[in-house]
Amino acid sequence: MPIQLLPISLANQIAAGEVIERPASVVKELIENSLDAGADQLIIDIEKGGRRRIRIRDNGAGIVKDELALALARHATSKIRSLADLEAIQSLGFRGEALASISSVARLTLTSKPAAQAQAWRAWVEGRDMSAELAPASHPDGTTVDVEDLFFNTPARRKFLRTDKTEFTHIDDLLKRIALSRYDVRIVLNHNQKTVRNYPAVTHADALQRIAKVIGSSFTDHASFIEAEHLGVRLWGWVVAAEQCRHQGDAQYFYVNGRMMRDRMLNHAIRQAYGDSLNDDRSATFVLYLELPPQDVDVNVHPAKHEVRFHHARQIHDFVLQTVREGLRTQHNVSAAHHYQ
Ligand code: ADP
Ligand code: MG
Repeated sequence: MPIQLLPISLANQIAAGEVIERPASVVKELIENSLDAGADQLIIDIEKGGRRRIRIRDNGAGIVKDELALALARHATSKIRSLADLEAIQSLGFRGEALASISSVARLTLTSKPAAQAQAWRAWVEGRDMSAELAPASHPDGTTVDVEDLFFNTPARRKFLRTDKTEFTHIDDLLKRIALSRYDVRIVLNHNQKTVRNYPAVTHADALQRIAKVIGSSFTDHASFIEAEHLGVRLWGWVVAAEQCRHQGDAQYFYVNGRMMRDRMLNHAIRQAYGDSLNDDRSATFVLYLELPPQDVDVNVHPAKHEVRFHHARQIHDFVLQTVREGLRTQHNVSAAHHYQ
């Protein structure tokens, strides 16, 4: 075959393959967009585990009419401009690919109204060149992204979807992780027209209310608050002593600059902090937040951003190890947890 440029829709489907694995991946990308837009309210409607519909309404900044088509194009982003921006990422998104990718494997409609614009507009893409169509719409300030019939045109992907129940569980788990990254955002999750989760916004001082709602009071009853700062790196959050861990299931939440992570190096540090006290039926149980200057961590390692790379990995490892170890040793119990039941 001679060399040819791929049709845009196919190029986008290939890109989608890296990030859009299942309905929960769509939900993740859309929520991250809403949070980047400054929303503090998210209403999420799921039908049939997300394969029929995923719709997210937010009250964020919105997208002006003239940029709606661009928002759906690949490599189009409002979040970075230069390599310097990329190396000091403040937002959850930056790749400019999510909406284009999702549009190529589902029927996506984007409806938005910035507060300063009188009329809301709706956009969607069609055809091999994914050209955008626009129409006026009715919508309050903010944005709704409606994703219908995920993988309708990519049967190979569709085949790998599990039951609606399993797919919904993935969405629910993801939502829990997000709910613990932003206490100040109200989140409502509906499945097949029924409200399944409702996390009201709380202030930081009331973080345990949110945590109790998301993980359960079995966690907050036994969790100790820990906090430490060293050379611009801060770790804070809650850990559960090893003796209590067996009752906790496996609540393991670790955030790096607001982003949920499953990082081997960090897990290793935490395990080591627990020492010999863990065994097969007791796993470390924690909700921890690591904050460090964005230029000291590279989030552009994996398209789905599940991983990060620390520039001073050894120091971070030892700092986490020492802080968690010290927290477990002093066992300062959070009695405040009892007020929230
Ligand atoms: P990225 O998030 O990497 O920039 P996306 O494809 O996810 O790329 O989104 C493209 C652009 O569309 C974003 O940069 C943003 O400007 C805009 N956008 C997407 N979703 C929203 C939203 N819910 N509210 C406001 N703007 C949005
Ligand atoms: Mg995005």
